[in-house]
Amino acid sequence: MTSPHIATIVLAEKSADLMQAAMQAVSAIDDLKILSDNRVFEFQTSPTTKQEALLTALQDRNISADICVQPADGRKKSLLICDMDSTLIGQECIDELADFAGVKSRVSEITERAMRGEIDFEGALIERVGLLKDLDISVLETCFKTRIVLNKGAATLCRTMKANGAKTVIVSGGFTFFTEKVAAACGFEAHHANVLLENDRKLTGDVQRPILGRDAKRERLEEYSQSLGGAQSAIAIGDGANDLAMIKAAGLGVAFYAKPAVAAASHCAINYTDLTTALYFQGYSDKDFVSA
Ligand SMILES: [Mg+2]
Repeated sequence: MTSPHIATIVLAEKSADLMQAAMQAVSAIDDLKILSDNRVFEFQTSPTTKQEALLTALQDRNISADICVQPADGRKKSLLICDMDSTLIGQECIDELADFAGVKSRVSEITERAMRGEIDFEGALIERVGLLKDLDISVLETCFKTRIVLNKGAATLCRTMKANGAKTVIVSGGFTFFTEKVAAACGFEAHHANVLLENDRKLTGDVQRPILGRDAKRERLEEYSQSLGGAQSAIAIGDGANDLAMIKAAGLGVAFYAKPAVAAASHCAINYTDLTTALYFQGYSDKDFVSA
């Protein structure tokens, strides 16, 4: 016998009317629970229920929502593993650094292609870092302070899972200079990223090897989840092609405002709401949230 499934519906906007309409559209009857007033609900559904079918039912009534259908058992994860750039923060750090170096358009174009999976991540990183050669180290600090903004829900997601005993880790193809600060700001226990090499307070235009890319992200997921019962115990969140392997491997892989290739490979997607939706998908409700 297959275990029952749970469907979680997170509306793009808070509305009593839309909530009623959404419940009707997806026939939410069994074991219905409200996770956030007039915005988020979950209900029990058959294992044969297709996520796409529910999404279509909502779209047919012009209701925008992020949804997830998954087995009821094991929904609350014991490992949170997150990408940083364009996931926990709204920016791509390397693009912002490139702006200070006067090479933003060239670098952004390479970033975009790499995140779409059109070009090899490692080669693309080496090429872009090379364009930052001789940039003063102080620019990194200025860049963090003036350009980098946490995405909504980043700290709440991390702190809530941590308060519930989960391990929390950032794995980024970006740079340790930034992951360290973002980890501290959100409360992540660990962070992994690439190390920008410097000499005499200037970037050398190179990064430490081996480069942390797609496979390394999945490997970190496997390492951290090993003592927690395996990859099934993890929720992985990311937006880019280098997140694909960890998103596929995780018990719950979430595409966050992701490139099409990433969205297609994930279990579910966040396209309308914020990072707290990753908590609702695990069954947490507003009253469970820990924000500071
Ligand atoms: Mg990213």
